[in-house]
Order: sequence, then structure tokens, then C-alpha cells
Amino acid sequence: MPSSDQQPELPTCLFCKIVAGVIPSHKVYEDEWFYAFHDIHPAAPIHFLIVPKLHIPSMAHLTEEHTALMGQMMTLAPRLALEQGCRPYPEGGFRIVCNTGTEGGQEVHHLHMHVMGGPRPWARKQ
Ligand code: 5GP
Ligand code: ZN
Repeated sequence: MPSSDQQPELPTCLFCKIVAGVIPSHKVYEDEWFYAFHDIHPAAPIHFLIVPKLHIPSMAHLTEEHTALMGQMMTLAPRLALEQGCRPYPEGGFRIVCNTGTEGGQEVHHLHMHVMGGPRPWARKQ
């Protein structure tokens, strides 16, 4: 894991403010490294975001030092998806989206994983 002082929070970043509790959110999960919360505009019956507490702007900024962190994030997602009510694989399941950069559809430049699931049809594509 990277050391927590490596990429400190960015005071102007929306998701850093959510992690710090400066902007309120509906918390799904929290540990030393991650914070998960419900998306304010859900695109599916279940839609939450997982963010690393470290301010990493996007997937494009990942280096080898983030391998363990991202591995944790990928294994956290299915666990939280089930806890949030996604039905088990294969009938249920979930979708994970990591928008990256402007052409990738990223609006908030703090790396985050969308986890979406629940009965279809969904509201829109993320
Ligand atoms: P992106 O387009 O960057 O992949 O996704 C950003 C997501 O953050 C969007 O789905 C948007 O609805 C969500 N979002 C933006 N502002 C807030 C906020 O203040 N609170 C919460 N909970 N979600 C937000
Ligand atoms: Zn941030």
C-alpha cells in the first residue's frame, strides 16, 4: 500500500471533501484506505461509488505502487455489491465503471469506481 502522506487530500476536490465529511454523503463503507457512498444521481436501483481516500486524479495516474490498493478496491466491490442488495452471480451481478478523462466521461477528477446493480431496466447508462 502507498503511504497515506504520499498523495494528500486536495482541498478543492469534491470527493476529498466527501471523504473528509465536509460535504455530506450517504456512507456505504469506510476503512483506512477507502470510502464508499451512494451516487447522488443513481443510474441503477443500486449505485454507489468507491473512492480511495488518497487523492489520485484518475486511473491514468496509477503506477506500480498502487497495485495493492487497486487490488483491494476490486475485491471490495463485489462484497459491497452483495451487502447493498445486488443478487448473486450469475442471475444478479453488478456493473463496474471507472470513467477516465474527459473522453472517458469522467466528471469528478478523483479516481472512483461506480458499482451499479439491481433489477433492470436501469435509468440510463453510466
Ligand atoms: P464520473 O462522471 O466522474 O465518473 O462520476 C461522478 C459521479 O459522482 C456522478 O455519477 C455523480 O452523480 C456523482 N456525484 C457528483 N457530485 C456528487 C455529490 O456531491 N455527492 C454524491 N454522493 N455523488 C456525487
Ligand atoms: Zn480528491
